[in-house]
Amino acid sequence: MTTNEPLWHGQAHMPTVARSRRVIARGDGVHVWDEDGHRVLDLPASLWYCAVGHGRGEIADAASAQLRTLAAYSNFQSYATRPALELAGVLADAAPMEQAKVFLTSGGSDAVDLSVKLARRYWSAVERPRKRTIVTRERSYHGLHGFGTSISGLDVYREGIDRLLPDAVRVPYDDWRAFERLLADGGSEHVAAFVCEPVIGSGGVLHAPDDYFANVRRLCDEHDVLFVADEVIAGFGRLGTLFASERFGLRPDILLFAKGVSSGYLPLGGVLVAGRVAAPFWDEDSTLVLRHGLTYQAHATACAAGLANLAIIEREGLVARARELETTLASVLRPLERHPLVEQVRVGEGLLAGVVVRDAATAGRVSDDAWERGLLARQIGDGDVLQVSPPLTISPEQLAEAAELLAASLDDVLATVPGAAA
Ligand code: PMP
Repeated sequence: MTTNEPLWHGQAHMPTVARSRRVIARGDGVHVWDEDGHRVLDLPASLWYCAVGHGRGEIADAASAQLRTLAAYSNFQSYATRPALELAGVLADAAPMEQAKVFLTSGGSDAVDLSVKLARRYWSAVERPRKRTIVTRERSYHGLHGFGTSISGLDVYREGIDRLLPDAVRVPYDDWRAFERLLADGGSEHVAAFVCEPVIGSGGVLHAPDDYFANVRRLCDEHDVLFVADEVIAGFGRLGTLFASERFGLRPDILLFAKGVSSGYLPLGGVLVAGRVAAPFWDEDSTLVLRHGLTYQAHATACAAGLANLAIIEREGLVARARELETTLASVLRPLERHPLVEQVRVGEGLLAGVVVRDAATAGRVSDDAWERGLLARQIGDGDVLQVSPPLTISPEQLAEAAELLAASLDDVLATVPGAAA
């Protein structure tokens, strides 16, 4: 146990961390090991990102080769590197939008902030400068940079910081008519973009009703609102299609990605922009420059890792695999719903689910117990949901094993609840 380390963890109560820090030392496939050699099945794939599993030498080799040739070079003004051009080409060709352009970033929050700036800049460019408001859904998470913090559907992230962006409006995550009303009540004039996660992730794995996205997309078309799909979690096969929007028949104007694009081997993310939205900046006779740039945008080594990762996803058919395994996932998790400590099992598309436990304290105890048994189960939502988003390489047997370990830990915790019977 380490108590005097100066490393400040993300999203953490540091006095607790000092008593309970787990140092992850090694990974292979769906497993990681701590420094003492304790092996756990990585149920959340770290922070949702490790699509191809841990320990892929092929990605390490691609990154190493690029590091030795040219680690990185600026992507400002006229400069580019070949891995960046190649990755952009692969992504634009696959994107569910016409004539896609790609801005590469270092992660999801970068992508979110750029998308908000771009949405506003676009409407100014086409002489609609009053379109400024960004609409998001309650319980949504869009990273924690300035704009992302402002537009999040989780108020906790603004505590003690106050409103950063006044023109941010939230609507319920499951009722498209609230968005319709907002637009009808004068919103049409002011709303620049609707930003949404195809399935809400960090907010607790929340699915929209079946008719939700088709109606939102229609309303965006009718009211000149840009539809921004934040696929940072849901992209790259997680929902059983390469891009999550495809699973819902959606054609976003802007699509944000990160995580699965490199499986986290190196920090990488980006923004796909439909040609129509990019046009004011890309047309031959345009005089506009999008005044945005990041030192590490389109980082050559990160792009090389991303290309190697996407090659694995394609070669191993991991997108189809995630789709095939969704029924297995549902069938192994559903029985947990009968457990007295479980409120709900949220399953849906692909390899993404949430197990809702009675309350956050109980979920924490289940998670601790699972760790001892060999399962890493992370808490999300209000702390009451256990995240299920394993590497897409997981086997049906490993899915069943994960569910068994969860069930055993739920039983262990239940046995300690006074007066409760299993
Ligand atoms: N959007 C969504 C939907 C996310 O889940 C996340 C991260 N969990 C982000 C944006 C931010 O990405 P990052 O942490 O890479 O900045």
